[in-house]
Amino acid sequence: MADITSLCVYCGSSRRGAQSHHDAARQLGETLAANGIRLVYGGGSVGLMGIVADTVLNNGGEVVGVIPKFLEDLEVGHTDCTELHVTGNMHDRKLKMATLSDAFAILPGGLGTLDETFEILTWKQLELHDKPVVLVNVEGFWDPLTALVDAQIDANYVRAKHRSLYEVAADVADVLPTIRAMPPARFSLESKWL
Ligand code: AMP
Repeated sequence: MADITSLCVYCGSSRRGAQSHHDAARQLGETLAANGIRLVYGGGSVGLMGIVADTVLNNGGEVVGVIPKFLEDLEVGHTDCTELHVTGNMHDRKLKMATLSDAFAILPGGLGTLDETFEILTWKQLELHDKPVVLVNVEGFWDPLTALVDAQIDANYVRAKHRSLYEVAADVADVLPTIRAMPPARFSLESKWL
């Protein structure tokens, strides 16, 4: 059973998505605060990212933001994070977010969210870490992604065993139970990489 103290959330930097996605971001923030689990995220005040972070903070939880300098300079950084790490570039940001986190949850988002998701999955495929990764399938948002991976498995570009690199949670309420049902991480990025 994976018992976590921090969760990295990848999600959209836009608020133009469905109300149900905003609600999911809020519900995940409430869940983290209620369970004393630290949020690790991209450090922004915009989009679903800002909603998750604001909700955790407003409910007395801890938020660790990791933002590259150029995005902080564009004034989209969240100023109220419990802890804010400013990195030199996007690559350092993603590595820092990954090392600070016990597990990963992916809410709806855009290309940046996909980049982060596939990076953490490919690092897991390469056995650089074995932390739980959960797609939060709000109203089936990630069905096209899992269908693509299934097609890649059928075409022999992905091994069938690698379908278990991630789990799919039907909704936000299912995120912590799904993570807790997964085996705990046996090794970390730090020991393999840093
Ligand atoms: P998006 O899903 O595109 O709204 O972006 C969500 C998060 O991904 C934000 O924190 C962005 O800063 C980040 N992001 C956007 N593009 C990239 C990229 N090419 N590589 C890594 N992260 C990105």
